[in-house]
Amino acid sequence: MNNQNNESSSASLYQEACQVLAGGVSRNTIYRNPYPYYAQSASGCRVKMIDGVEKIDFANNMAALIHGHVHPAITDAVTEQLRLGTAFTLGTEAEIRFAQHLCQRAPGFEKIRFVNSGTEATMAMIKVARAFTGRPKIAKAEGAYHGSYDFAEVSQTASPANWGDSASPNSVRVAQGTPQSVLDEVIIFPYNDPEKVIAILNQHAGEIACVLIDPVPHRIGLMPGTNEFINAIYKWTRENSALLAFDEVVTFRTKYGGAQELYEVKPDITALGKIIAGGFPGGAIAGSNEVMRVLDPAGEMLVPHSGTFSANPVTMTAGRIAMEMFDQKAVERLNQLAMKARSQINEAIKVADIQACVTGAGSIFRVHLKPEPPSNYRETWIAPSTTKLLKELLDELFQQGIMMINTCSAALSTVMTENEIDKLSQAMLQGFRKIKPKLENEKL
Ligand code: PMP
Repeated sequence: MNNQNNESSSASLYQEACQVLAGGVSRNTIYRNPYPYYAQSASGCRVKMIDGVEKIDFANNMAALIHGHVHPAITDAVTEQLRLGTAFTLGTEAEIRFAQHLCQRAPGFEKIRFVNSGTEATMAMIKVARAFTGRPKIAKAEGAYHGSYDFAEVSQTASPANWGDSASPNSVRVAQGTPQSVLDEVIIFPYNDPEKVIAILNQHAGEIACVLIDPVPHRIGLMPGTNEFINAIYKWTRENSALLAFDEVVTFRTKYGGAQELYEVKPDITALGKIIAGGFPGGAIAGSNEVMRVLDPAGEMLVPHSGTFSANPVTMTAGRIAMEMFDQKAVERLNQLAMKARSQINEAIKVADIQACVTGAGSIFRVHLKPEPPSNYRETWIAPSTTKLLKELLDELFQQGIMMINTCSAALSTVMTENEIDKLSQAMLQGFRKIKPKLENEKL
């Protein structure tokens, strides 16, 4: 291993990056202190850094690469499409074939619209809900990440200094300069607390277009929404003529038809992204014929929607191949592998005798430096000193050849085997042992 050279090359590349990229990065996700690392190439579940050091990739581009890197079936299909053209001011057969595939994955997917990212998907979903109901407000869970649309991001980074009473959480701006009028249109509720959420929603009955729910919200702690919580919200939306809108940008991978398969009640509209685009930029909204009619250009067109690269045939081809390969059997196999990972990490927690726990669903999981699994944003939140220890854990894993998402979360890919899971849990054990003495001084 040539770790020293890798570090120095990354350090010098970052210096160059700072001259031309704002803050030296194009997305904060990859930022690391003192500098980010740079990729050279990848194959399967292994990423080669510049200078050739290899890591096992448990981040998979923020949970987007369901089959790992450079899957031959996707590469071949996309290469063929590249020769035919990458984007036209015309429709393509590729978008129809892909929509046909997605529509048969979940009963509520009667119509699809493609977009270019998860952010665009949640934005389009909110606009459709507003147009359909004729109402301006949305309700969302404190701490939930739904992309960077002004309204969708409210309270995503709330902290003890500004979050207020949990019975009526404040609407907290993320980007400085976000207008107060935006905050006024977003109602915030605590996740997994049916009583509080209904009391809050009741105060705004008649004004709410949709209740936006991520069924396994990553930033909130990656704990699945309880049946009781989802049922209560569904019932409220029926009684108050609002829509139930699911953000399944991350969670679609948890079941063949998304995490919504797990609940008795179904959303009216769903935002998709990440894995459905087969490694390329993409996203979609899917919903009932009735709701999606607001997008129909031959009708009243209550929501005019376009996008220069929406449904480009490269993404459509990659997405269809990736999703066809992610069939029932592949989903279940990957979920089993993740179950094994969670169980081995739990074992490492026991052996290291550390105050930590692991949450997750399907093929995603997250390690917390907390004795008990958190069920909402406030319980997930950790003080800056504990965040520093989490970073130490991530650094230790990285040194041992494991790349995680920076919240200490992982999203498996279908090319992984038990071998990679064993490596992960061994590295976790070492990492836990390293930070344990310092964690014992933390107030958790
Ligand atoms: N919703 C959720 C639940 C997400 O996790 C993300 C991205 N991490 C988004 C929406 C936004 O997706 P994108 O980064 O593709 O805009």
